[in-house]
Amino acid sequence: MPELPEVETIKRTLAPKILGKTIYRVEVYLPKIIKNVSVEEFTRRVVGKEIVALKRRGKYLLIDLSGKETVTVHLRMTGKLLILPKGSPKDKHTHAIFDLGDLELHFNDIRQFGGFSFEMPEIGPEPLEDEFTPEYLKTKLKASQKNLKAVLLDQKIIAGIGNIYADEILFEAGLSPKRIAASLSEDEAEELFKAIRKILALGIEYRGTSIRDYVDAENQQGSFQRLLKVYGKNGSLCVRCNNVLIRERHAGRSTHYCPHCQK
Ligand SMILES: [Zn+2]
Repeated sequence: MPELPEVETIKRTLAPKILGKTIYRVEVYLPKIIKNVSVEEFTRRVVGKEIVALKRRGKYLLIDLSGKETVTVHLRMTGKLLILPKGSPKDKHTHAIFDLGDLELHFNDIRQFGGFSFEMPEIGPEPLEDEFTPEYLKTKLKASQKNLKAVLLDQKIIAGIGNIYADEILFEAGLSPKRIAASLSEDEAEELFKAIRKILALGIEYRGTSIRDYVDAENQQGSFQRLLKVYGKNGSLCVRCNNVLIRERHAGRSTHYCPHCQK
């Protein structure tokens, strides 16, 4: 569930605590969280290294280590990275502990889909960076016969948007999740571009959305859930037109929208 704003918030809370720290020891309690390499190889490549930079790419967190290693962390559904005092007890969902000297970084994941790797898949541009432009979005929209929900969720087109922010972006833009991407006018594409920027930036400003179990690296909840206008609001009245919001399945995902004012 962590999307761009949540991973960005985790990065920002984690960075001041772990930058410059050395990884003295790694304990992995669930081998499948280490992707593509063995636990032994993973351990050998990270232990003794210094954490030199922390970056985010889409929904991925990138931990740059000395010796030119980069660890990619994907939190998937329920992964959490928590910074805790040395010797903090693990619980049944703690799958790895990184010993950073005076602190520990705990990887906790109830659903067990998240994990660590040295690889980074190819994904589309960062929506809040200059590389993402209205022209780029228009080109991608024109080339797609998929609906807007599917396009927003496609990490190869735009990096970092998941189910919650996709629904909120489409509401902000006044566009139906069912609309075929190629059918958008120039003006509608501009509105969509602006909505993507606005909603994701707001998500970061409010430190992410905590509706199930998202917390940042300091175990603090976000507050963007207070600003949600459609996600999880099916059966409530639309704040824009006062009609009833609905939930339907689009692009294989539960989708919340106003069938009256989202065209
Ligand atoms: Zn409405």
